[in-house]
Amino acid sequence: MMFNPTDLLRPHLKQLVPYSSARDDYKGKDGVFLDANENPIGSITEENWNRYPDPYQLELKAKLAEIKGVNAEQIFLGNGSDEPIDLLYRAFCEPQTDEVIINPPTYGMYKVSADINNVKAKEVLLTNQYDLDSQALLSAIQPNTKIIWICSPNNPTGNDVSLEKIEIILKGFQGLVVVDEAYIDFADRPSFTTRLNEFPNLIVLQTMSKAWGLASLRLGMAFCSPEIVAILNRIKPPYNLSGLTQRTVLNALNNLEKKDQMVAEILENREGLQNELEALEIVKRVYPTDSNFYLVKMKDAKEVYLKLIEKQVILRDRSKVVLCEDGIRITIGTKKENKKLIEELKKLS
Ligand code: PMP
Repeated sequence: MMFNPTDLLRPHLKQLVPYSSARDDYKGKDGVFLDANENPIGSITEENWNRYPDPYQLELKAKLAEIKGVNAEQIFLGNGSDEPIDLLYRAFCEPQTDEVIINPPTYGMYKVSADINNVKAKEVLLTNQYDLDSQALLSAIQPNTKIIWICSPNNPTGNDVSLEKIEIILKGFQGLVVVDEAYIDFADRPSFTTRLNEFPNLIVLQTMSKAWGLASLRLGMAFCSPEIVAILNRIKPPYNLSGLTQRTVLNALNNLEKKDQMVAEILENREGLQNELEALEIVKRVYPTDSNFYLVKMKDAKEVYLKLIEKQVILRDRSKVVLCEDGIRITIGTKKENKKLIEELKKLS
């Protein structure tokens, strides 16, 4: 049976008349624009931001397509990757009726967004090695299961899950499989975007918030079939990406070298930090990572977390998270920041 995302769409959205503007009919840059109630004089800022931005971000997508090795029609852009996460629920999951599957311990927004949208998130725990339990996952699928969320490299455990197991899920499930690759730039493997033409039910999420250092600008990317992109475009807020974000990121994409340098520096710092953490008496275990953070199990995680806050070193306490008992998540900092971290941790030993 051919996979068609429209078959999964919530029924009322099949009749939706999306918002349209006069600029859908006139695509030119020059003209007398009296259609959108903008300020014709200019902006209160030095730079002019008085015109609405391109709702489909075509220039930015063309450049991203080149860099990511996909077609521009396979890209949806959102206000952070948290926006496509939410839009996927709104497009495909009927409140109270449909289900999704998540694999705890994992990124919290899959569950928060499910709760906001009144959709049940069925939990299939990762194994003790923090890998997917593909058998349990396949057995958890019901006729009303619409999305399976897979985070790889996984937050908060840091590791890539097994790629063969992701493939098993992609092949064995007729709904959507989201592979969230927010941390892909720190992992030593090709992106799942290379498999898009093979799997029409695959959605790969990436973000500009990590390796690119643009968390404040809010730009998330969903790579998927043009049919899924079209569905997301129909339900998104028309101007979801600001002109400032579009222009700044477009310029940043000419500066790939700087991104590569920053990633190399973070990877170097990551290696150094592992040995120093492992040498500490209060540390029980440092988990292997493919990301820009470590999950570290401590003798008394809560105590360490609170003591370090007093020293203005802020970590993420994960000790209450399933399978992460005694765990703290530590982002790789600069050399100076990591030195301060280790100094303060030594004082607790
Ligand atoms: N996915 C994962 C796995 C994350 O860890 C994060 C941020 N912590 C996001 C998505 C969201 O990223 P953003 O909304 O900044 O693009």
